[in-house]
Amino acid sequence: MKLLLDNAKVIDGLGAVIAPGWVLVEDGKIAGVGPGDASPRAQMDADGSGSVVDLTGKTILPGLIDCHVHLMLDASPDPLKQAATERVGLSALKMALRAQRTLKSGVTTVRDLGCKGFAAIEVRDAVRSGLIPGPRMLCAGHLICMTGGHGWSIGREADGVDGVRRAAREQLKAGADVVKMMATGGILTPGVQPGAAQLTLEELRAGVEEAHKAGRKAAAHAQGTEGIRNAVLAGIDSVEHGFYLTEETVGMMLERGTYLVPTLTAVRAIARHGTESGIPPWAVEKAMAVGEAHEKSFARAMEAGVSIAMGTDAGTPFNEHGQNAQELALLVELGMSEGEAIVSATSRAAELLGIADAVGSISVGKVADLIVTSGDPLRDITVLCDPAAIESVYQAGKLC
Ligand SMILES: [Zn+2]
Repeated sequence: MKLLLDNAKVIDGLGAVIAPGWVLVEDGKIAGVGPGDASPRAQMDADGSGSVVDLTGKTILPGLIDCHVHLMLDASPDPLKQAATERVGLSALKMALRAQRTLKSGVTTVRDLGCKGFAAIEVRDAVRSGLIPGPRMLCAGHLICMTGGHGWSIGREADGVDGVRRAAREQLKAGADVVKMMATGGILTPGVQPGAAQLTLEELRAGVEEAHKAGRKAAAHAQGTEGIRNAVLAGIDSVEHGFYLTEETVGMMLERGTYLVPTLTAVRAIARHGTESGIPPWAVEKAMAVGEAHEKSFARAMEAGVSIAMGTDAGTPFNEHGQNAQELALLVELGMSEGEAIVSATSRAAELLGIADAVGSISVGKVADLIVTSGDPLRDITVLCDPAAIESVYQAGKLC
């Protein structure tokens, strides 16, 4: 059965706009896209070969891709502590609901970068089999950290080259799509510092090797300069957070094609809510201390032309699942054009995740993961943050 979404402004996710335009969906895939005067509508009306939805005044864009979420984290003031003490079965049930909320908001693909007990992988497989609704998911399984390193309370601690290699293999054995390693300390673990290096270059290299041998990507939580340098030298595919990027590390990322996933929302939300919201003082202190450097690093990377893929770190304090598009508003606030912000959350994110052949743009042959909005996000990016403005979400051509 064919479905024609007609008379809309079409943002293709690659940087082009067709207005008015149309998108033809067949068997869950995009079968055609083009300008208004070439619409197959008359033909379809004549032969009754499918349904037509008139979207005059509306915008169609690819479903959004969030490259950094933690479905296990509940956006409470101290979510790592919460997750570490919750039974995994209960977590998995809550994660299913968060996945559904994320999908409804227009995010049709997420990459889960760390949970305990492989719960995200279970949720992923439940979504994949059609048991529960949710976005397409790629999962890291456990994040891999040094003993006592950032995220240890929900992570897989590993030390030494062989230790990290084994930990990476365990995640891959359990079905991980990506290997996530901690190259530095972070905000939400007490007693570690974002600027301090953690897993060593050699340890990171072992994890990257295992990921790449298996045809998977490797991502590094890397905030301080030394850890960023280690991660990039180890061959990491994406630097997550990147608080303290320098000219040197930006140059290295450009040379190697390393992506940056800035997660601006996460740090802002902690600094904005402060200790009065219940966030532990040590976390607020760290977020306040890194905020300015983080935003400057982002600007430096953007101006230099580093590939930036959208990621929120959803699940961290007051960084709710289903409000992922707030990150696009921050990208724009800090100098990215609306069009570029959409590219970073669609085709560029798909490239980083290694799924650009399937999703991330409105192109013939791609899976029909689409959003229809009532406003124009190229004029006002916050349209994507407004649940009332997300008119419909299609997943593989089916209305969610
Ligand atoms: Zn994270």
